[in-house]
Amino acid sequence: MKKYLLLFAIFIVANISGQRFCGTDEKMKDFFSNNPDALAKKQDLRNYLTSKNNVGKNVQTVVTIPVVVHVLYKNAAQNISDAQIESQLAVLNADFRKLNSDYNTIVPAAFKPFGADMELVFCLATKKSDGSTTTGIERKSVASSFSFPNNYYQSSGLVAWDPTKYLNIWVGDMPNPYLGWAYLPDAAGYAFDGLAIGYNYFGTTGAAQYPYNGGRTATHEIGHYFGLLHPWGEDGSLCGDLDNDDGCADTPAISDPHYGGNVFPDNSYMCVPTANGAMFMNFMDYVTDTEMAFFTNDQKTIKTNTMAGPRASLLNTNACSFLAVNDLEKAGSINLFPNPTTQYISIASPLVRINEVEIFNSEGRLMKKVSVKNETDKIDVNDFAAGVYYVRTYNGTEFIKSMKFIKK
Ligand SMILES: [Zn+2]
Repeated sequence: MKKYLLLFAIFIVANISGQRFCGTDEKMKDFFSNNPDALAKKQDLRNYLTSKNNVGKNVQTVVTIPVVVHVLYKNAAQNISDAQIESQLAVLNADFRKLNSDYNTIVPAAFKPFGADMELVFCLATKKSDGSTTTGIERKSVASSFSFPNNYYQSSGLVAWDPTKYLNIWVGDMPNPYLGWAYLPDAAGYAFDGLAIGYNYFGTTGAAQYPYNGGRTATHEIGHYFGLLHPWGEDGSLCGDLDNDDGCADTPAISDPHYGGNVFPDNSYMCVPTANGAMFMNFMDYVTDTEMAFFTNDQKTIKTNTMAGPRASLLNTNACSFLAVNDLEKAGSINLFPNPTTQYISIASPLVRINEVEIFNSEGRLMKKVSVKNETDKIDVNDFAAGVYYVRTYNGTEFIKSMKFIKK
């Protein structure tokens, strides 16, 4: 009994010291114990997600994910500003394109060969499922007795927008020790699918609190949402147990999290010590927001397989764009022709430059990715089967507009 009391005391001290703690493993344990069907498929899905041999590897392309942020607040401080939410989106769009300015300083040269551009872009939804316009943000005042972690996705909180079309992020009053959690792709489409994050660990401004005011809690949790595990596996402290690995050969196996203050090379918690030591600056470890800065190539493989598999429905949602109101005229001027077509398509865009075009079939599989130099360029679709296809257009890495066409 004394031992338990001591452990409990250490746990409380840990919370007060403000270490990162992610609730994903606990939530997934609950999920699997309540959903035996998902549990039965768990290992097959894990094998698929970590495989480098399936079709997912051919879908390596920039994908735009529509986000809806549900703010549940008990007081003015928790009713975070649009600016705080937008600051979070900016962090995601840097971190998931390897454009974060701290990448070069935080990631040691020895680990840079493993650094990956995750090719994900996030934007606040501009369209609801019914086609009406939205800011991608909804808010609700809740009573001080409201239990955010238990009820955020229930009708007493704010119910998810179709989780097969949107990444739902709930922000609210998260109790210690949690900063947030996410559901792995095993839970794709469930009512709680998405992320829950404390209002003071979200974004980089407003109510965000040091040392978790770098927006990295959402980066970490979205890693889970796309299938990534902690580098110590799902149960921790099980070095040598291959079933309890994160499935990534390029993230050295460790037994426990790093909480920050580590200096490269650091072999603490390494299952097998090496010259480079632990990859504690990976987004899936527990260091503070200013100490984590990258995802690896093997983590990207999992994301790509997730995007081609359990989360493929996010590919065709067309639920957002980066266009500001005064850019809508530009988007309105973009036309795809001929439609329907038999042999080729062209895209005319007199007001905004389009230099990359992706074509997806109705199952969300990338059929073609082409660079476009002139708007008169013809994109050959002669060998496509008859059916509906979706086109996404880009200016550099910036998503511009989605369209569809019919191949006869
Ligand atoms: Zn986590």
